[in-house]
Amino acid sequence: MSTPLGHLGVGLAWALAVSGPTSSWRRLLLGAAAASAADLDFIPGLVVGAPARFHHGASHSIVAMLVAAALALGVSSRRSPMTARDVALVTGAFLSHLVLDWLTHDPGTRRGLPLLWPLSAQRFSAPLWAVPAVSRAWPPTLDWVAHSAWLVVAEVALVAPLVVSAWIGAGRPELPPGPWRRVKGETSR
Ligand SMILES: [Zn+2]
Repeated sequence: MSTPLGHLGVGLAWALAVSGPTSSWRRLLLGAAAASAADLDFIPGLVVGAPARFHHGASHSIVAMLVAAALALGVSSRRSPMTARDVALVTGAFLSHLVLDWLTHDPGTRRGLPLLWPLSAQRFSAPLWAVPAVSRAWPPTLDWVAHSAWLVVAEVALVAPLVVSAWIGAGRPELPPGPWRRVKGETSR
């Protein structure tokens, strides 16, 4: 797996690339959230005290990501009509998670992703990795801190050019104030 930083960055870049001049905070947040969602599979493991137990399971399959995208689009379409850009944004962002994890170095015992689940239990990983592996240590050791710091630098170096290129390619959109910045004088109801 990549770190959340890598997935968030790829989601942002994808949202900019797909949305172009229509980019908005809502679309960027949607892209970043959808690109990170598969790693919520840590939550049931945290509940049972073994965080990695369900990680890289069914949620890391193409079918699961397509179902998640259809659900997200269904909810989103209740708010405003769905466009082709919405479909591309949400579906691509969910699937980007699998691409990034597939390209990540995976030295663990349960290697690869079950991309074809539920049709097949076979696990897949790229023949050559592009993203260094995440290591886990509890309590944190000095080696773990050094490796994690290096990982953050490596992922920023990989993802930042993608985000900047996508922003330039989108025509350098000026994003309007986010929903958290209330217009002066406006009162909440
Ligand atoms: Zn993942």
